[in-house]
Amino acid sequence: MRGATIVCTLGPASEDTETITELARAGMSVARLNASHGTPEDRARVVEHVRAASAEVGRPIPTILDVPGPEIRTAPLSDPVHVATGREYRLVEGATVEDGTIGVSRSLAAAEPGDRVLLDDGRIETTVQRVEGDDVVVHVDSGADLGGRKGVNVPGVDLGLEFVTESDRQELALAAEMGVAYVAASFVGDADDVYAVKEHLESLGEDVPVIAKIERADAVENIDGILTAADGVMVARGDLGVECPLEQVPLIQKRIIHRAKRAGVPVITATEMLDSMIHERRPTRAEASDVANAVLDGTDAVMLSGETAVGDHPVRVVETMARIIRDVEASEEYDESREHRVPPAGDTRTDAIARSARYLARDVDATAVVTVTQSGYTAHKVAKYRPEVPIVAVTPDEQVQSRLALLWGTTPRHQPSPESAAPALIERAATAAIDAGVSESGDTVVVLAGMMTDLEGANTTNTMKVHLAAEVIASGRGISSGRAAGRTFVSPAGAVTDPPDDAVLVLPRRLSNEVTGDLSSIVAIVTVEPGTTSYPAILARELGVPLVGDITATLDDDSVVTVDGDRGVVYESDIEER
Ligand code: PEP
Repeated sequence: MRGATIVCTLGPASEDTETITELARAGMSVARLNASHGTPEDRARVVEHVRAASAEVGRPIPTILDVPGPEIRTAPLSDPVHVATGREYRLVEGATVEDGTIGVSRSLAAAEPGDRVLLDDGRIETTVQRVEGDDVVVHVDSGADLGGRKGVNVPGVDLGLEFVTESDRQELALAAEMGVAYVAASFVGDADDVYAVKEHLESLGEDVPVIAKIERADAVENIDGILTAADGVMVARGDLGVECPLEQVPLIQKRIIHRAKRAGVPVITATEMLDSMIHERRPTRAEASDVANAVLDGTDAVMLSGETAVGDHPVRVVETMARIIRDVEASEEYDESREHRVPPAGDTRTDAIARSARYLARDVDATAVVTVTQSGYTAHKVAKYRPEVPIVAVTPDEQVQSRLALLWGTTPRHQPSPESAAPALIERAATAAIDAGVSESGDTVVVLAGMMTDLEGANTTNTMKVHLAAEVIASGRGISSGRAAGRTFVSPAGAVTDPPDDAVLVLPRRLSNEVTGDLSSIVAIVTVEPGTTSYPAILARELGVPLVGDITATLDDDSVVTVDGDRGVVYESDIEER
């Protein structure tokens, strides 16, 4: 089981169903669509491909729709033009690119002489000389070839742009219509920008969680407010390294991860993680270390951009990333850093329970923390404290199930509406750990659930239980107490001839006579009869063995089971043995 998850940006190299399926098999948890490229129709098609791939691999693959926000780009160009060092250029709003003039998607007139204007991720550096109406004249300090639709950054300058642009509105409408799992909002400056996106989504009647991309200096300053408003954050190192001095990016990354973890908000570390693999078959050592360090810092997810969107070997990149994550997470160093960085308990009761679950799981040698979660809230709290064992999040809501696939160390499972009866709810949740492949029958798991009481809503996580996870093969009514394991001996007429040494007598029909034969070998009884005064019930009490009655499931002959007469269930295999 992996802790950190992998987000892959889909693009021309990867947006068909077959490749998405391969990416998922290689370790992709979440797909990202970048709305800076292509059309809404293209994206709607790719979302369908992601859904088809998800059906193929048998688990949800949530989609993040990344909306560009108030970004500025240079005009489209069929061939690159050379922007010469030492020359002056006029930056004009529009599509013109001719000698001495470069078109940009928005006027930069709010800039002032001395401000820096950076083109193409900072590859071209210029300084504003003067502002003439809507045009800005810049001096090129460091030139290079410029392609079409390259990013334009004016660090530290408020250009007065509306945060939710017209094209974003179209994308958000698509997000709402397609039911994507998350929207990523670019260039947020503070919590208000996040709320502006949420407000727009709500006006469309959808409550899509918003991931705030941290790529501006003011967003770094306002990170605490952003963490309160957003449902996730992304350390978007591409623009961050242009908007802020490059040398500050490593520590900004560490601080954001740290703050987000303390707040219990999922954090994605993004951009250029294995960049050389866009063309190469192996990453550089520095890139491998970069992924490893983000994982050691405790990021929820690491993201691939061009590597999977336009790269030569998208699947190989994901395999490489998954291997790096696995190796780091198996290390002593990782255990140590996780142990030393458990956030203090937050203000809520769920925080306290989730934090305790982390330590309880360790102390009782549990193989999973299982959380029953309606909205995903409890699962977020459990992931916040980074337990040493996998988290299995059981939810009745398929959209919540899908969203939870982004979270650190979490396997989301869908189970239809939780039953109100507490024991059944916990029993079923614990079985989900077996179904998820993280626990085996007989393992101990820690279960967290919200139990309805007269005073509290069902959404309150108020119950934590150390529970035996076991595959229930039949359930009925516990009539004679105790627990015993043995081999099933199915006897329709009640004759016990040549039973095994430890026979679980299975009576699939009502008896019209008494049980005959060798009764000394019987360690438990399972019967269709429901009553506490039925003949099998009396026999069980006489023999002092557990009995489960009112069974409707058919049990096979000669299979090892455990009969729990207190809970009224029959488990697969000998759970005592484990
Ligand atoms: C980034 O700038 O790092 C980023 C993730 O955003 P985009 O891919 O939209 O440039």
